[in-house]
Formats: sequence, structure tokens, C-alpha cells
Amino acid sequence: MTTAPLRLLAVHAHPDDESSKGAATTARYAAEGVEVLVVSCTGGERGSILNPSYGRDITDLDEMRSVRTVEMAEAARALGVQHRWLGFVDSGLPEGDPLPPLPEGCFALTPLEDAAAPLVEIVREFRPHVITTYDPTGGYPHPDHIMCHRVAKEAYETAGDAERYRGRGEPWTPLKLYYNHGFSMARIRAVHEAMLGAGLESPFGDWVESRAAREIPEREVTTRVPVADYFDARDAALRAHATQIDPDGFFFAVPRDLELDEWPFEEYELAESRVATTLPEDDLFAGIRPPEETA
Ligand SMILES: [Zn+2]
Repeated sequence: MTTAPLRLLAVHAHPDDESSKGAATTARYAAEGVEVLVVSCTGGERGSILNPSYGRDITDLDEMRSVRTVEMAEAARALGVQHRWLGFVDSGLPEGDPLPPLPEGCFALTPLEDAAAPLVEIVREFRPHVITTYDPTGGYPHPDHIMCHRVAKEAYETAGDAERYRGRGEPWTPLKLYYNHGFSMARIRAVHEAMLGAGLESPFGDWVESRAAREIPEREVTTRVPVADYFDARDAALRAHATQIDPDGFFFAVPRDLELDEWPFEEYELAESRVATTLPEDDLFAGIRPPEETA
């Protein structure tokens, strides 16, 4: 058991990932008095302009970094969370056959200990009880997402060990590690079918078909956090990433009423735990909260 304030650390690969994965959860906990820190491993320098209404192209890495720094600050304000950069450079999403090599010096090519060291330092300083990140596949096969998983798991495992990462702060042992599963097949199907049932065009049609065809094994969802009151904050945070998020696109295709009826949660997989908890859960701090706080 633990004394307040509880602290949550959400580790993401690029600015905008915190707004598309688990955003309403961070907004909810922050509003409830939990200290929430979002870490972006890279500056998103190699992202493309994905919003057709953005109006101009940016190809220079330094310019992209500065534009996305401003976007990220606005998203963090919308969610009510603290934010830190880990300071690595976006690896880009390699495309083509054969795939081109990753750019020199990028995050995904950084040796694990070098890449994890600044995160271990943040964990020892911020002292989170809970850490969230992606599953070992990255949730989506971007080299930075896979690397993000690796550094977050490394930090979870080693931050409490005084023999590791010496000179990077006083040891702190986080209690739970979760993987984000915002796009579980259960959610996709439920929303997809409800959209069709309402006579609307579903944004998930291709997704349902391609997932079924590829038979991707579903990872386990252990924890559903109710977040109905925080979709506004999530959407404001998404819109803050104007270079990346089309305000008329995919992320806004599901009407709010339908989303509230079908899926007022965000989902997680409890990957590691140093406390006893009973699955399924509806709270990332289950087993950690002082008993009088348990809802
Ligand atoms: Zn990303």
C-alpha cells in the first residue's frame, strides 16, 4: 500500500502517441489528483504531414521538431499532464522492398542501455507507481514503438536496482507495468458494428477484414478504465497535433454518443506487477491505492 499522491508515467514513442493511446486515462487520473507524466522518447522529427488541411509541407527535421514541440505542449495542457522529452531522434517508418536502413543516430539504433538511461533517471526522479507503454510488437510495427517498449521495460525492471545505471539517481521500484491496447479487436468490432447498425460509414471496415485475414493473435486485455468524461480532453489533445491529425479524419469518425454507448473505456494489459491484484481490473492503481481510497 502506498501514500498519496499516486503517480503515473506514460512512455510514448512520438508526440501524438500520448493523444491516440490512453489519452483519456491520463486526463482522468490527472483530474482526480494523480500526478501524471508523459514522456516522449523522440521528437517526431521524421513524421510526415498527415493532415491534408495543414496547408504546408515540412521536410526539415529541425523545423518539424520545433513545430511538434509546440503541438505537444498544447496537447499536454489539454490533458492536464506534465511532459518530458527523452531527447532521441525519430527513426522514421521505413518503407519499400527491401526496406531501407534506419537513419544513423536514430532512437531505434541506440544501444538499449544508452536509450534507457535517461528514462531510468526520470523514473528515479518522478517515482511512478505505474508505468504504461506498448507491447513487445510496439502495437504497430514502427521501429520507435518497439524501441519504446524495450526502454520502458528496461526502466521498469532496473530503476529499483542500485547496482544498475549508477549515477542516475536514487533507486525507485515502480509497482505495475501496463501495455496500451486502445485498438483491441473487441472494441474495433463493437464500434464497427454499431456504426453499420446506425447506417454510418465505419472507419474500421478495412481493419476488421485485414485483421481477420491475417489472424493476428489478440493480446490479453486485463484492465478497462472507464473514461467517458474525458473524451473531450482526448479530442482536444489530438487536435493539438495539427501536423499529424486530420480534424475530419479517422480519429473523429465515430460520433461521441455512439462511442459512449459502445466503448466508454480505454484498455490495458497488465504485463508486470509487484503487487497483488485481481483481474480483470478497472483501475491502473488497483492493489496500490490506500484502502480508504479504493473506489
Ligand atoms: Zn508513434
